[in-house]
Parts: sequence; C-alpha cells; structure tokens
Amino acid sequence: MINNNIENIVIIGGGLAGDTATAALREAGYTGGIQLVSDELHRPYDRPPLSKAALLAPDEAAKIHFRAAEWYAENNVELILGDGAAKLDPAAHQVTLRSGRVIGYDKLLIATGTRARRLRMLETTGAPVFYLRSLDDCEALRPLLVPGAKIVLIGAGVIGMEVAATANALGCAVTVVELAPRVMARSVSPAVSGFIADCHREHGVTIHCGAKITGMHCVNGRAVLELEGGIRLEPDAVIAGIGAEPITELAQEAGLRVDDGIIIDRFTRTSDPDIHAAGDVARFESVARGQHIRAEHWRHAIDQATCAAHAMLGADTAYEERPWVWSDQYDLNIQITGEGTGDTEILRGDPATKSFTAFQLREGRIVGAISINQGKWKRPIAELVHNQARIEPALLADPNADIKKLASGMK
Ligand SMILES: Cc1cc2nc3c(=O)[nH]c(=O)nc-3n(C[C@H](O)[C@H](O)[C@H](O)COP(=O)(O)OP(=O)(O)OC[C@H]3O[C@@H](n4cnc5c(N)ncnc54)[C@H](O)[C@@H]3O)c2cc1C
Repeated sequence: MINNNIENIVIIGGGLAGDTATAALREAGYTGGIQLVSDELHRPYDRPPLSKAALLAPDEAAKIHFRAAEWYAENNVELILGDGAAKLDPAAHQVTLRSGRVIGYDKLLIATGTRARRLRMLETTGAPVFYLRSLDDCEALRPLLVPGAKIVLIGAGVIGMEVAATANALGCAVTVVELAPRVMARSVSPAVSGFIADCHREHGVTIHCGAKITGMHCVNGRAVLELEGGIRLEPDAVIAGIGAEPITELAQEAGLRVDDGIIIDRFTRTSDPDIHAAGDVARFESVARGQHIRAEHWRHAIDQATCAAHAMLGADTAYEERPWVWSDQYDLNIQITGEGTGDTEILRGDPATKSFTAFQLREGRIVGAISINQGKWKRPIAELVHNQARIEPALLADPNADIKKLASGMK
C-alpha cells in the first residue's frame, strides 16, 4: 500500500481523527516523518467521557488520553502541543504554526473538528456561559456542579441531555430549555424522545420544550432568563449545548472547497489532492444516507481517519460510513444505528422495562434502529439496518423471535 515517495505527513488537530490517523499510518508500516499538531495543551484524549464519567469525577478525567505519553516518541511521532496551525500554503506544501515554525509536507490531514456554537445573545450581556467541548471546559464546569446548584441547560441535543443527567447525578437542580418541540429531536424518533424526556423527569429534571427565550440579562454577574409564558429562571450557571461549527478557516483561507465543512471525496481528498480531511470537520458523500453530510460521531471519526491515513499512503479504498452513535444517560445506554426517524416505527420490547429497540422503517425497509440497553444485539441490528432488511412487522416486533436469525435472513 505504501507510496515510497512520501517522506513527511503533517496532521493538524490532535483529537480522535488526528490521533487515529497517526496510529493507522504507523500500523500500515509508514516509517517517514509525522508531525501531529494540536492547539490544545493536553495530549490527545477522548471527548465522549467529558459529558459523562469525566464530568462526574476528576479521577475519571485523568484516564481519557488515548495513549501513554511515551507512545509518540517511541513511534517517532513529533507531537506538537499548544501550537496550532495558523496558515496553509498548498502550492509550497507548507504549514505555518502560530509560533512561526514552518513545516513542509508531502501529504497533509486536516482534522480540526468543531467548536461549540456560542450563545452570543447571553454572552453580550456579560453573564458567564459555559460550553462543553474540551477537557478544559469539563474542568471549568465540574466545580459548579455541586449539590443544590441551579443549572440551566440551553439545548436538548445529545450532549445537553448527557450533561443534564450528569448534573442531576451530582445533586444539581437541572432545567433544560429547548426551542424544538422535543428532546434529541435531530437524533431520535418522537416516541424515543418522549421516553428519554420521561426518564429525565422521573429523576427530577425540569424540561421546557418549544420554549422561546424572550429575555436574557446579567444581574449581579449572573444570567437571568425569561421564557415565553412568564417563566423566569435565575440559575447559578448556564450551559449552552446548541450545536457545533466546523473549524474550517485554515482550509478556506488556503482556497480549499468549504461549505459547512471541508468538502472531501470518497477517498477523503479535499479539492487539493495532497490534502485530506477527516472527522467532524469533513463534509463527505454518505452512500448510506444518499447525501453530502458532516457527521459528528466518534465511530465515524475513527473509521474516516483510518481511511484517510491509508489513502494518503496510496490505498484506493473508498470510505463507507456505517452510521452509529451511542449516548449514556442515567441507567440508559442508547445506541442509534442508521437513521433515528423513519416513516414507520416498530417497537421490539417494552419501554417500561427500559430495554427495547425502536426500529425505523422507510417504505417497509429497516433504515435505522434506536436501542435502549440492548447493546448485546448491536451486530444483528447493524446488519438489519445496513442491508435495509424487509421483515414482516409482527416478526420484527416479537421479542421472542431470534434477532440473529432475522439478521441472517432465517426466520
Ligand atoms: C462532550 C462530548 C461528548 C460526546 N459524546 C459522544 C458520544 O457519546 N458518542 C459519539 O458517537 N460521539 C460523541 N461525541 C462526538 C465525538 O467526540 C466527536 O465526533 C469526535 O471527537 C470527533 O473527532 P475529531 O478528531 O474530528 O474532532 P475533535 O475531537 O474536535 O478534535 C479536533 C482537534 O483539533 C484541534 N484544532 C482545531 N484547530 C486547530 C488548529 N488550527 N491547529 C491545531 N489543532 C487544531 C482542536 O483543538 C481539537 O483538539 C462527543 C463530543 C463531545 C464534545
């Protein structure tokens, strides 16, 4: 697979995609130079625990790094921390770092991920607003989540609902404010959304969906929020989970094609063939979904970064997305495979038992599944979704029908 003309590869972004690509290059036998450039001071770490275990307990935060510190030197990887890439010159094949250092490359991977979308309306009042994207964000947030603290979460997406569950577990009085009519609306079906919201309410979380914020103020250094209908919230802290934006400035200024993400082809190449992109920052053609998308998911970042590493070395295997996301909230392990909403939903199992799968069908074919505490069926469920299987609804709904047999086409 290895193209021997490649002597140096630069990877911008020391997150999941950048770190995965680094390891994949070495695993594939590439022995040339690698500079892994990260603007963070921490060596590469995993983000999913930031809203879960690492937010709950500092000792868990100490365990989230992908590799031992020595791994990089032992594998002849130059890990550059606290010095971001500031400029990219595709014609000269050079990256300039903020420190002024210039690094030449034969191939370059941009894996700069996303940044949290800011709640400017509240920021401009002078009231503090917290976000959760990095380990530093997590460390800044944890001391506020003390028993009895009044916490308002703006945004009921996956990360918002995870933080709500964690803050609740830490004894905070949590209120979630969401403009959409239901929680996790972009990720799961209305029925599953209702199930998840009910679980939060059972734990004592207050949820305002379809809620318009009519006023944001800063009073004595703290945020005061007014919702339509006369509700006034005076929390100790506001956490905004209102989405993320791809970090594309470098690519844009270098003249690469950018449109809400760096546009890449099926081999992770940008509009410059020596520059690849992967992970949250890349917009790619999803064969599974039949459109160009950006995916902000852990499994996708690993798979696409591995594909990018191999493609930089000359492999011609196209990236094939297998959409899969998980979330942990209270005692719920939620796994979303494929689409979260279809035109028909078939429940397999009883939600009251907190163990069921909501299959999503489109024109009679399975296009997605949301499993609650059914991780043991992950593989057969993934097969059913990947093959867009057509199974008789009564059989699909029957928890006694062997799902492995259904997936393998046997009844
Ligand atoms: C709190 C949280 C919880 C999550 N939970 C889940 C979950 O339960 N399940 C799931 O499937 N996914 C989850 N995700 C999503 C998953 O973590 C991301 O999809 C994944 O981290 C994407 O990896 P990435 O490498 O593309 O981007 P990132 O992890 O964002 O890494 C990008 C890195 O590039 C750096 N960078 C940016 N610009 C520059 C520059 N100019 N120079 C150098 N470095 C730069 C950034 O600082 C960052 O370190 C979660 C994300 C967050 C934030």
